[in-house]
Amino acid sequence: MRKIRNFVDGEYVEPEGKEKYDVYNPAFGKVVAKVSEAKREEINIAIDLADDAQKKWSMVPLPERIKFLFKLENLMWEKIDEIAEITTNEHGKTFEEAKGDVIRAIQNVESAAAATYHVMGKSNKNIANDIDEELIREPIGVFAIISPFNFPLMIPFWFLPYAIALGNTVIVKPSEKTPMSMEYAMELIKKAGIPKNVVQLINGGSEAVNYILENDKIKGISFVGSTPVAEFVYKAGTSSGKRVQAGASAKNFILVMPDANLDANIKNIIGSFYGNAGERCLAGAVLVTFPENHDKVLRIFEKEARNIKIGYGLEKNVDMGPLIRREHLERVKEYIETGEREGAKVLLDGRKYINEKYPNGFFLGPTILENVTPDMTVAKEEIFGPVASFLTAKSFDDAIEIINRSKYGNASSIYTTSGKYAKEYVNRIKAGNIGVNIGVAAPIAFYPFAGMKKSFFGDLHPQGGFDHVLFFTDSKVVISKW
Ligand code: NAD
Repeated sequence: MRKIRNFVDGEYVEPEGKEKYDVYNPAFGKVVAKVSEAKREEINIAIDLADDAQKKWSMVPLPERIKFLFKLENLMWEKIDEIAEITTNEHGKTFEEAKGDVIRAIQNVESAAAATYHVMGKSNKNIANDIDEELIREPIGVFAIISPFNFPLMIPFWFLPYAIALGNTVIVKPSEKTPMSMEYAMELIKKAGIPKNVVQLINGGSEAVNYILENDKIKGISFVGSTPVAEFVYKAGTSSGKRVQAGASAKNFILVMPDANLDANIKNIIGSFYGNAGERCLAGAVLVTFPENHDKVLRIFEKEARNIKIGYGLEKNVDMGPLIRREHLERVKEYIETGEREGAKVLLDGRKYINEKYPNGFFLGPTILENVTPDMTVAKEEIFGPVASFLTAKSFDDAIEIINRSKYGNASSIYTTSGKYAKEYVNRIKAGNIGVNIGVAAPIAFYPFAGMKKSFFGDLHPQGGFDHVLFFTDSKVVISKW
């Protein structure tokens, strides 16, 4: 069985720890590789090497560091199909979806090259009697990037290019469920000529994360994953003096106003709920309507949902792949049962879906729950699967109140032709990423990936923009008199 390798000291290396996790092709339901839990010594060696490398790397002039990003960007465009195929095979998403992930990863490389110019300091002359004052931004040291399973390449690349362009070195610890895309990316990082130990890869699960947290040479952590782990990493990291930014879980509400243009937007709305099989932190989860448009929206939505083609993501005309694991499939089915038990009606039941070609795959068909109320589990908890819960609000104010009661605040969208309601929605909704007639409110690479309440821990957000310049550099103020 193929073993996932680490990448340390400029080379792929066999892991020393015990084999602990299976990597599946979720469409076939078959184990394709094994991940070992990294040992404390393996991680400490990589961190020591990263710490030494950072001292030299930070002295490479910024324009020279950026040249490596341009080389990497070119290599990633060249290998886009290869990477997307690996992602589909380890995650299950369709080839087109996987290609979208790679494109966004590349855009982050491009954006990092530009963002670093914000590093330019500030100076003031003669602030008092011949005294000048200057602000310098400088690199910090070694950062760890800890990522979730659902975007195996894109999420590490929300951080990696910015951290290194700004003169830091990084240790990437991808999800033990989908480690292959990053394993492959290390080859491109090496080919791009990025010096040894500026980027290293360590595999494992929670133990590896704990070893990273315990190491004082790690100066900061960029984490993305579920809320309980994000909160734990944030608290443990910050209490030992590390910088931490931690993206977390979501429960995203989509409000469809009676004046919405459904013909123009239904595919976009459907994509929000069922794209990436609902395993997306920006996925629509609860669809909110009003008594006057509920039946119409439901009818059109159901018709589209029934047309979704499910299957192996590398086959043609497949719209939706399987879920990540059998246990997760069972968990999503349990949520559907809980919904039924608490009074929701299953209008479209994905549990009945069987894929005859791949009977062992972790497939679940698109599911629609009707008559959902705000107090139900399916309206409150993240399901992370292709399940749409239909909820009816009494009025616009009632809808806003229901949505803002959620403990999460990752994303929310409104579909309307009214500028007044769109503007009010943007102003009143407590979520980090807002869509207006857009169901997946994914910020482009040079905007930060925002998030509020239990969907984000920290101050400076993932992805591009000025937040990263602040997160990956420290400020130094120089006051001089000559
Ligand atoms: P997860 O929390 O299980 O795992 C994330 C990372 O944490 C992995 O690298 C994993 O190895 C590690 N980890 C898991 N359990 C741990 C523990 N007990 N102690 C220390 N480390 C641990 O998340 P997942 O299932 O891989 O990803 C899905 C979750 O990520 C969803 O909740 C989703 O909403 C969220 N997500 C959020 C964003 C965002 O930007 N807010 C983006 C993508 C995914």
